[in-house]
Order: sequence, then structure tokens, then C-alpha cells
Amino acid sequence: MSLKIYNTLTREKEVFTPINKGYVGMYVCGPTVYSDVHLGNCRTFISFDIIYRYLKYLDYKVRYVRNITDAGHLEGDRDLGDDKFTKKAKLENLEPMEIVQKYTLGFHDVMRMLNTLPPSIEPTATGHITEQIKMTEQIITNGYAYEVGGTVYFDVEKYDKEKPYGILTNRKLEDLLEGTRDLGGQEEKRGRLDFALWIKAKPEHLMQWPSPWGMGFPGWHIECSAMSEKYLGKKFDLHGGGMDLAATHHTNEIAQNQACNNTSPANIWMHTNMLTVNGARMSKSAGNGFLPGELFTGNHPLLDKAYSPMVVKFFMLQTHYRSTLDFSNEALQASEKGLKRLWEAYEFIGKVEHVERVENIDAELNDKILAALNEFDTSMNDDFNTAKVLANMFELVPIINSIKDKLIDINTIQSSTITLIQQKFKCYLEDIFGLLPINEITNSKLNEVVNLLIEIRKEAKNKKDFATSDKIRNQLAEMGINLKDEKGGEMTWSL
Ligand code: AMP
Ligand code: ZN
Repeated sequence: MSLKIYNTLTREKEVFTPINKGYVGMYVCGPTVYSDVHLGNCRTFISFDIIYRYLKYLDYKVRYVRNITDAGHLEGDRDLGDDKFTKKAKLENLEPMEIVQKYTLGFHDVMRMLNTLPPSIEPTATGHITEQIKMTEQIITNGYAYEVGGTVYFDVEKYDKEKPYGILTNRKLEDLLEGTRDLGGQEEKRGRLDFALWIKAKPEHLMQWPSPWGMGFPGWHIECSAMSEKYLGKKFDLHGGGMDLAATHHTNEIAQNQACNNTSPANIWMHTNMLTVNGARMSKSAGNGFLPGELFTGNHPLLDKAYSPMVVKFFMLQTHYRSTLDFSNEALQASEKGLKRLWEAYEFIGKVEHVERVENIDAELNDKILAALNEFDTSMNDDFNTAKVLANMFELVPIINSIKDKLIDINTIQSSTITLIQQKFKCYLEDIFGLLPINEITNSKLNEVVNLLIEIRKEAKNKKDFATSDKIRNQLAEMGINLKDEKGGEMTWSL
């Protein structure tokens, strides 16, 4: 039974054959750490965490590289103005590196709450300026980039004469050019589609480094080309990210690697589909982002209650990673019920004692259970279909519940079959999906407790008992619970 993966590049599900037998090199574009990650970002990282875990389950030695973009990411895709870190630093009156630290820690906290594994290497863009400069130099030497006044651009039209630039998303250069009306404010560019590899910094720019072209900072796309090559080599197995990255960021990565090394970096390009809200993509710029902390505490006007990180994760696993997923209260509530039902069945069957009485075996029932269990691997081997595995599991839940209610005599099921249910459920729910028992009390009760403390603090403040009100705020802050004054006198909290 072989693993098949959908490759955006070929638009087909392909049998996965690693470059080096037994090893997998996987690169995933990580977060841009200038603000909190939203739930959409989490969907992508959860999907790749499960892919990473499943590859390990298949006994591959996986080197999973997921970068941190902590420099050089400009507003939109226009290579103009301040980068996102400089902007945020000015706004929050902090150093850009304080912004980076704050949101990197926040990202790690969220990933930990969602019980995802850390990648093998988590390189940062600022830690790899030299590699990015070297790659840019090589691309210039090879004739695919040019410098104008301290900024280096990739020459898309020249590159496309030799290799198809729009190969990843199957678009022709003429169509791309037609869709791009202007130079994006960069009049010095030779072509409308040219993008910056290195950008000249203005003197007031907070993050800048010396380069052969003067003081500046790297373009966003070059960071992933340079870091994937450094840690996974010129050619590796899997490259992933959200679908929104395919048309520009990943298209440019392929062009850069080809122009530098004469080879496309990854064999398989994987893209997760978008988490949406009322059909619109969840994004920082659209302002429709739900923050994980808001979900875990229930502190959001559109949420009825708090949801455990495991419910949020389970909600995501119920849809295949290449389908869009719409976020709603109702969907989360249904997931909460589903996870509870599944987990109760899992816990019951895990503890069950069974004595086999061969003469009583119900062959049909045994076969039905074994067929459903075997489907788990088949479904995952079919492009990591977590939704199908969960459907397979839910086929077994009524059987488990009937055993529990003594409607089915456990002794009609072979002992080895029960053991296999126990093993497969554990392996899938805990090891591959990374689910933990949901502590139902934690979130909703925590919310009630913190709201009570907010109430007491308000009363203390009204009585001018500032010692008590400060004590509540400060001690909660020490525990990682932050209180925030909202407009209109309301107070909210976040983890
Ligand atoms: P960013 O921090 O914006 O660079 O995004 C980090 C990762 O999250 C990238 O792989 C994006 O493609 C992905 N992403 C952004 N928005 C969404 C969304 N609404 N649903 C799923 N993935 C997303
Ligand atoms: Zn990237």
C-alpha cells in the first residue's frame, strides 16, 4: 500500500518516492511574526504537523524545516515602503526584534496548546542574511537578476524565455502580464512581473544589513529559497504552505532556485486550502481573523462559548486539507459533540477486558471491524485523508457503544480484533492526530473564574481599592492571563 500525495505542480496524486530511501526532507513556509497567528494560519500548520507525524508513522526519518519570517516582508506584494515589522514596531513603540520575539513566543504557545510537534529546524530570515545575499549574487551572475540603485530585481521575462515562470499554477506569462497593470510603484523595474530579491533600505529603516548593493534587506521569497537549500539541499521531497502562497511566493521560489541552481527545489508541492468565515478567506488584512486565544477563552463577540484547542483541531481534521473549511459556532459545537462521543468510545474500549470464547465468534462482525480498521491507513495513504479516517472511526463507535451497553457480547469479537481497535485508535487519535483528552472543565470554567475576578476587580476599583485591583491584574498577568480594557468600559481577557 503506497502513499499518494497530490502535487500542485503536476495537478495529480502521485505515488510518493523519496529522493533518499527512508528519508524525507520537508519544508513548510512558516508564519510572518509581526502579529498573532489566526486560526487560518493554524489550519495550515496543523495539517503539516499531521503530515509530519504520519510520515514518521510510516517509519521515514523526516527533517521538517519550518521557517520564521522575521524580516523583509513588505506590505502586500508590492516591494514598497516599510516592512511589516518596522510598521508594527513604530505602532507599538518597540524595537522590531521585540515584535519578532513577542509574536514568535505567541506562535509557539499556540502551537503547543494545539499539541503540534516542533519542526526539526526552525530557521529565521534574519539569521540567514548571508545565504540570501549569496543566492542573489549567484542569480545575478547567472543573468536572471539586475540591480538598480541598490535594489536587485529578478528578471521574470528573461527567465520565462528558458523556463515557464507560471509552471506551478499552470499560467502563461502573457496572461500574468495582462493581469498586472503597472509596475507596482517601482518605476525602475524592467518588467511588470519582476520582483525584488534585495531591497535598498531608506536611512530611517530599522532593519537593514550591508550587502554588495549597499544597505538593505532581503525580499520575502528569497528567504525560503536560501533556507530550504541550506537545510534540505538543492533538491528535496516536499514543500508546503497555504494555497494563497502558490501563485506568487512559491512561483517565485521555484524561479529563484532554477535561476540559481538550475533545478526546481522540491519534487512535490503541497498546498492546504483556506479556512474561511462566511465564505471569505480568514486573513489578517481582512480583519476577519479569529485568534486561537479568543477561541480557547470564548472571548469573541461571535462566539457563544470557549472551545478546547482539541475541539478546534478536531474540527479541522474532519475536512480534507485540500478542501475549504468554513468556520462557525455551529460547526465547532458539532465537532465538540463528535469528539466527546469518539473519545468516550476510545476510553471505554481502551480499558475493556475481554475473554475470548472461540465458539461464539461473530465472523461477520469481526470482518466488519477489521475492514474499518484497515481503512485508516488506506485513507491516510490517499493524500492524508484525515476526514475519511474519522468517518471510519465513527463507523466503529456504535459497535463500541453497543459493547458498552451490552447489546453486543464482547466475547463474540476476537480478542485480537479488540486489541487492534485499541492499538489503532490510540495510534491515530494520539500519535498521528495529536489529540489529547479534552478537559471539559478547563476552558468554560476558567472563563467563569476569570470573569468573576474581573467583576471583583471592578468593584474594588469603584471603591478606590487600587491595591486589590492591581493585585488581581498583576497576578493574573503572571499566570499568563492578560486583562484588557475594551471601548465602552468592558474588560476582556486573553491567554
Ligand atoms: P503568514 O503568516 O501570513 O505568512 O501565513 C502563514 C501560513 O498560513 C501560510 O502558509 C499561509 O498560506 C497560511 N494561511 C494564511 N491564511 C490562511 C487561511 N485563511 N487558511 C489556511 N491557511 C492560511
Ligand atoms: Zn516561504
